[in-house]
Amino acid sequence: MTLAPGIRRLIAPNPGLFTGPGTNTYLIGHERVAILDPGPAIPAHVEALLAATQGMAVVAVVVTHTHMDHSPAASPLAQALGVPRIGRVARYAINQDPSFIPDQVAIDGFCVSTDAGDLHAISTPGHASNHVCWHHPQAGILYTGDHILGTTSPVIRVPDGDMADYLQALAALARLPDLILAPAHGSLMPHSHAVIAALIDHRLQREQRVLESVRAYGPITLEALVLQVYTDVDPALHPIARYSLEAHLLKLQTDGRVISMDGRWSVL
Ligand SMILES: [Zn+2]
Repeated sequence: MTLAPGIRRLIAPNPGLFTGPGTNTYLIGHERVAILDPGPAIPAHVEALLAATQGMAVVAVVVTHTHMDHSPAASPLAQALGVPRIGRVARYAINQDPSFIPDQVAIDGFCVSTDAGDLHAISTPGHASNHVCWHHPQAGILYTGDHILGTTSPVIRVPDGDMADYLQALAALARLPDLILAPAHGSLMPHSHAVIAALIDHRLQREQRVLESVRAYGPITLEALVLQVYTDVDPALHPIARYSLEAHLLKLQTDGRVISMDGRWSVL
């Protein structure tokens, strides 16, 4: 699907609870093309990406982070096309794609050139320690990976995920011009400033609710706290909500607001 001149999207055939309709792979460029978030190494998807870039000069395979629904197709594509893999290695190996080894490390400001404009790396830890959003100024687009999703609020899963980092990275993105957001799952979202403000607000409201619930019910276990904090969320999703709750609690602990003793949380 063509989203704008020189920007196409292919959706990987991996729909699911975490992935929505599937992982969005973006092809950026007319003749000099970067493949962004190649997705899972499902042969049909890899073949579709090779077919979609046939006759073009692919410059790189770029990733936002290395969760299993984002980067496993990078190595077979890079090998088939003879191009570098660009991204970072995460701090913790759990839930990461072990096959992804960056040929070039996407440090802050790292630039990938296509004939539809440059992509600039912006460090956005939080959902994952190695998460990078890619700013495409010429198109007014920010490729957000799983940092900002079109489907749901991203899961922050410790230890690689970090709520304080996540909020800080959102605040940094809010200082960019107002952009179109191109997430790894779901549709394009216009007006990054409004989307980011709503997301920060959502997280801070949730944090407030966590604090109030710990104050009202503590000492309380994580399992019991999920039921108090996520009354607005389908109980079937509570195992996932639990991850973000833990991340909220660890941030509040670092902030000196709550403490954990013998697996139970209390306010300080
Ligand atoms: Zn992810």
